[in-house]
Amino acid sequence: PFEKSKGQHILKNPALVDSIIAKAGLKPTDTVLEIGPGTGNLTKRLLEAGVKAVVAVELDPRMVLELSRRFQGHPLLAHNDWILQIGQCWVIQGDVLKCDLPYFDICVANIPYQISSPLTFKLLSHPPIFRCAVIMFQREFAMRLVAQPGDTLYCRLSVNVQLLSRVSHLLKVGRNNFRPPPKVDSSVVRIEPRKPLPPVSFKEWDGLVRVCFNRKNKTLGAIFKQKRVLELLEKNYKTMQSLQLAQDSEMGEEKMSPDDVAVLANMVEDLSMETCDEKEDDEMEMDDADMAGDGRASLKEKIMGTLQQGDFADKRSSKLSQVDFLYSLSLFNKAGVHFS
Ligand code: SAM
Repeated sequence: PFEKSKGQHILKNPALVDSIIAKAGLKPTDTVLEIGPGTGNLTKRLLEAGVKAVVAVELDPRMVLELSRRFQGHPLLAHNDWILQIGQCWVIQGDVLKCDLPYFDICVANIPYQISSPLTFKLLSHPPIFRCAVIMFQREFAMRLVAQPGDTLYCRLSVNVQLLSRVSHLLKVGRNNFRPPPKVDSSVVRIEPRKPLPPVSFKEWDGLVRVCFNRKNKTLGAIFKQKRVLELLEKNYKTMQSLQLAQDSEMGEEKMSPDDVAVLANMVEDLSMETCDEKEDDEMEMDDADMAGDGRASLKEKIMGTLQQGDFADKRSSKLSQVDFLYSLSLFNKAGVHFS
């Protein structure tokens, strides 16, 4: 019996497994990471493709036992963990979100959909950077990953993943290719990490994107007039001033480190699909009467001046490209306005 709570939907169409393998562009020197091998339908074809090694991480001990029976694996004790060895394949029993990932060149996986967002960011924050990941996602999640400015599904997830990688849609997969069939259709996506990573502080980047996508159909001029946003920026401004760190973290001087990217792994809950939609709370604007002293008024001026300078005041986040976000972040940081 397959467990719904573990997202157990087994690939039952061999032609589809072959297409995924073909799209992955495997090399004989590749070490492949597979997440959730289940009963091993994809694992078997990965091994037959003649790669150097497959390292698979499977949560369910019953599935590991099934793999052992199907492929006559040998249990090994390595680094205090029991690992199942099947020829050139090593199966680690555990939660992929909690374990240290091994070295890999490429990740190929039909994953449980409930871990899509944390897994994507865990992979993208994993050093050394791998060549690519070919992963089956729920269709809507996949469309959010590849969404471009102006698309309905363009959201914080699209912008953040595309900052760190190039994403392309490879295959549409109907629900009847799985046993049992899930309630939703799926898509296979290729994620290729950018090398090198863009020279931007990820915390700053995500702070800006978070503010902008909270009201993605409003103009930036309106977003940055909100009391909540101005209070946040004022707090950051004061912290920066007191720490005298403003110059150090200006755009271009601080490179994104793997640790910085790892921040991503912690922001996964609010990247779930529901929260990509706009919230309708707290619409208060801050007018000058609200300003507590000159500090705030001058900060507001700085912000509005920056938006004018980059011609962003009338633009909406839903239409802004990566380059627009990078440019606006650099202008804000130059003006001493920080998002983290
Ligand atoms: N790869 C197999 C296939 O394509 O037929 C099975 C895919 S099934 C969609 C997902 C698999 O991931 C299940 O075997 C499930 O037990 C496993 N899984 C669920 N959560 C996991 C986690 N956090 N870490 C590792 N594996 C997990």
